Amino acid sequence: MRSFTKLDLQYAHRFYGFKGEAQYLHGHTGVLTIEVEDTVNMGVNMVFPCNEIQKTAWDVLKNFDHALVLREDDPLLPAVLGVYEQQGIKDGAPTNSMRGEAFKTELAIAYPECRLVVTKETMTVEGMIKIVYDLLKDKLNIAKLTFTSGVNGASQEYDTKNQNKDRCPLCGIELQNGVCPKCGYRH
Ligand SMILES: [Zn+2]
Ligand SMILES: [Zn+2]
Repeated sequence: MRSFTKLDLQYAHRFYGFKGEAQYLHGHTGVLTIEVEDTVNMGVNMVFPCNEIQKTAWDVLKNFDHALVLREDDPLLPAVLGVYEQQGIKDGAPTNSMRGEAFKTELAIAYPECRLVVTKETMTVEGMIKIVYDLLKDKLNIAKLTFTSGVNGASQEYDTKNQNKDRCPLCGIELQNGVCPKCGYRH
């Protein structure tokens, strides 16, 4: 069975080199749906608590929220960084407190201190799904990702490894050596 949850991400980007209006900087509310698959334990009756999926995903993905997403070869990148530098906000500002874990993958690098994500490819909805899967595949047993942004949407299904893990009957999270790391329940 699957548990799924949704996250909203507000971001600005553009399609550098494209011919349409998307070559201009603009913003979106993107909605990411993460479906996680596993077996359901007797007495627990959930695959995964959705608030735990949200927390695990949000730790990394909040780097995309109220962020600017630019391709690595976009000339806007040095221009924007130059302005941030002049303003003294490139390396952070006291009011920028919602920073995620910095990350660097083949496809994207996050700079949480200035709310910037630099991508290798244009950040289309398909591109976002590739980036998100890369960031979360070792943390969640992802069965499907869906990302919508305005009229655009994309989804991808993945092969999962159902591990039939023992889960805490009190909070649903995975037991570590028979003990719940969250509430201390013992099997
Ligand atoms: Zn767009
Ligand atoms: Zn527990």
